[in-house]
Amino acid sequence: MDSTNQLLKPVTAKINDAGNLEIGGCDVVALAEKYETPLYVLDEQTIRGVCRDYKEAFKAYPKINMMFASKALCTMATSKLLFDEGFGFDVVSSGEIYTVYKAGIDMSSVLFNGNNKSFDELTLAVEFGVGRISVDNFFELSLLNEIASSRHKIVDILLRITPGIECHTHEYIQTGHLDSKFGFDLTQIDEAVELILNEYKNLKLHGLHAHIGSQIFETSVYGDEIEILVKEVARIDEKFGLKLDEINVGGGLGVKYTEDDCPPSVYAIADIIIKRLTSCIKKYNIDAPSLFIEPGRSIISTAGVTLYTVGSSKQVPKGKKYIAVDGGMADNPRPSMYRAKYIAQIANKKEVSSLNTVTIAGRFCESGDILIKDISLPEPEEGDILCVFNTGAYNYSMASNYNRVPKAAMVLVNNSQSDMIVKRETLEDLISHDVIPDRLKEK
Ligand SMILES: *Cc1c(COP(=O)(O)O)cnc(C)c1O
Repeated sequence: MDSTNQLLKPVTAKINDAGNLEIGGCDVVALAEKYETPLYVLDEQTIRGVCRDYKEAFKAYPKINMMFASKALCTMATSKLLFDEGFGFDVVSSGEIYTVYKAGIDMSSVLFNGNNKSFDELTLAVEFGVGRISVDNFFELSLLNEIASSRHKIVDILLRITPGIECHTHEYIQTGHLDSKFGFDLTQIDEAVELILNEYKNLKLHGLHAHIGSQIFETSVYGDEIEILVKEVARIDEKFGLKLDEINVGGGLGVKYTEDDCPPSVYAIADIIIKRLTSCIKKYNIDAPSLFIEPGRSIISTAGVTLYTVGSSKQVPKGKKYIAVDGGMADNPRPSMYRAKYIAQIANKKEVSSLNTVTIAGRFCESGDILIKDISLPEPEEGDILCVFNTGAYNYSMASNYNRVPKAAMVLVNNSQSDMIVKRETLEDLISHDVIPDRLKEK
């Protein structure tokens, strides 16, 4: 069965009677006028659709728990929406912990993860009652035990392990291979378990956690990952008599940024995970563990688009035609960071037969600030609204104020209604943290 992460555009995207692009029943040209550009637009129906795909796909394994990887997009409104859909949260910083806390999320559904959590962040997590902390290394085991014991608390943990699986994705977003910066090597697990059982009396180990990468198109890697996790759970039981009842396989399922991308469906991933888990439970003779998954990108990417206004253009003699828009690498760093590819459409122009090949340039002062190289579009003109698709994940969450440009606003659309969920930054916001020392003021 197909799932929403396999689409190029939000499920509600269509051309309306005025000939404009419409998303969530809202004319995006009108959205651009009302909220200004650049503007992140999120389609609620697409988000809820993917959530339902995940729930439907994994229902054959009743002990399933879904968590959304907040680093893909973390706002109070989206956290609330995903919590309502039954998701918990994988968080990686105090900022993410604070955001979901303020959104009213039950903190027991939250897992704190990361390779260098600070004393303050771990303390905040313990005080807020974060449900699980996925401990990444020996230093953190000792630090967390200290924090827990000084508060006379028992903290529930997982061990993040490096399963040694190579998957074919960009080097920077691979995480499960052996020399990754994340997690305990398989050969270090026993030492960690021994420390927890014998020394770190304020830590309670519930299970193992792994994450093998991002924008993954292969399904077999998830089966291999399951096998390694279950094998380790069985080995730990045999060696230490410790029964672990949670395994967390991380996230990573890919999405369709361009026609060339063919991500597997959520149903295909669920099928391979559940089948392999079921067979491994028998093979290694363990009790069926609770299964946790943590998708980020595949939940939120397709639902998001970014609207820009076309400004200047430049025809390089005998070269490229550049079309510049009013955003770029500060609102979407992925093309300059990972050479990520995107598709786009002029929202106020019907697809016509006369198409031009142009390059969409951002407005930031870097030659590398190119959003889309060589895309075929109806001749873009100044004032046109350009809609770039699949920007829901790792765009706003990676956005910066480079060139001292205020961050864009975000709206959630559904049933012809639009609601601002992140306000546009103002010039005052930009300087609100600046301080001029008195000695510079004196003159
Ligand atoms: C980034 C991350 C995820 C989510 O990855 P996606 O590719 O966005 O699905 C899940 N778990 C962990 C531990 C991560 O670091």
